[in-house]
Amino acid sequence: MIIAIDGPAGAGKSTVCRLLASELGYTYLDTGAMYRAVAWALIREGIDPGREAQVSRQLHRIPLRFSIINACLVISYRDSVLEEELRLPEMSELASLVSRIPSVRDYLTLQQKELARQGSVVAEGRDMTTVVFPCAPVKVYLTATLPVRAGRRLAEYRQKGIAADYSSVEQRMRERDEADENRNLAPLRPAPDAHVLDTSELDISEVVAILKELVRTSAQRDYCAISHKN
Ligand code: C5P
Repeated sequence: MIIAIDGPAGAGKSTVCRLLASELGYTYLDTGAMYRAVAWALIREGIDPGREAQVSRQLHRIPLRFSIINACLVISYRDSVLEEELRLPEMSELASLVSRIPSVRDYLTLQQKELARQGSVVAEGRDMTTVVFPCAPVKVYLTATLPVRAGRRLAEYRQKGIAADYSSVEQRMRERDEADENRNLAPLRPAPDAHVLDTSELDISEVVAILKELVRTSAQRDYCAISHKN
């Protein structure tokens, strides 16, 4: 089973997908973390993430590994597991920068498909519903207004003790969304058959409940289709 969810930064994807995956017993596939990890590892290896030719040449030599352990995506670089370092604000822009490079997208798309072969996933990112899992039975585009999304991100930074102010968070978010929406490869956009859900006025539990209902109706639809065929 693949539940594919896309949307701009701060739409609440990570929080609701993590909860949904845990309630369903699926793996939460945070594909943004995979782009962040590539950017992080490139810097560690002394490679400029903005230099496409060099990135493409070195990409497969980087000691980065993606695996699923106990239903969790584990990203490791050499012997260490990457976690909080990927969530630093500067990693967002660097991830967006490497996400425009075709060899990086090909590499991560392959990894994501491979990980989803290992069991049921809630896969979240920018191109899950359009490119990586276009045949997923449940496809959702989560969004919210820019002020709401920027407010959520600011609250998250404050909780983690990261210094930030509203206007710079909003501006960086706007610029990153524009870059993600306007790139040539796998741009951020709702798949034609995705359910579009604006979470601006909803709390986390309401969004999770709506997603669970979509999963339930999709399972029912598949069951009816199979019964009808037999
Ligand atoms: O979701 P997150 O903010 O962690 O993603 C960081 C960046 O990685 C995004 O702004 C986007 O440029 C890129 N990304 C992508 N495709 C995905 C997931 C993330 O291009 N499936």
